[in-house]
Amino acid sequence: MPGGYRLEYASSNRAKCKGPMPCKGSTISKGTLRLASVIDFRGNPTFAWRHWGCTTPKVLANIKEAFPDPSELDGYEELNDEDKERIAKAYEEGHVADEDIPETAQKGAEDDEEKPKKKAPAKKAKDADEDDAEEKPKRKRATKAQVRATLPLLTPLLTPSPESRGD
Ligand SMILES: [Zn+2]
Repeated sequence: MPGGYRLEYASSNRAKCKGPMPCKGSTISKGTLRLASVIDFRGNPTFAWRHWGCTTPKVLANIKEAFPDPSELDGYEELNDEDKERIAKAYEEGHVADEDIPETAQKGAEDDEEKPKKKAPAKKAKDADEDDAEEKPKRKRATKAQVRATLPLLTPLLTPSPESRGD
């Protein structure tokens, strides 16, 4: 069987959650609804357990693809009605309910919020203003230089010609 899943209530406190951080490695307490990814390792099925609440939307999508109806999932029929509904709802919504996410998995969400957010590029707008302010004096200087450049051309016209000097 390539890639199976099983749902059940933890029969002991021994299994560790294989879900995403920060819950990964924490104990799944006895009686907790848990999900196994069943990996066939050389003919020996290996169960990788996680809290039901540690089922990520991506994992849930994979499960749905393999088992379009939750009742096809191994162990589903043995769950109590409340949990069957829980799973059916997650199927519908594409993610587990917030209230199903264990406390051990929620620490991560808080950490994410503490990470610095992307800063708005306010600096760029300020630079543009400064460039604008600089351009005006530059244009003035250019004009002065142009005036100075034209002056030597006018000078010979102002100097009296040698012919008019002699008598
Ligand atoms: Zn977990």
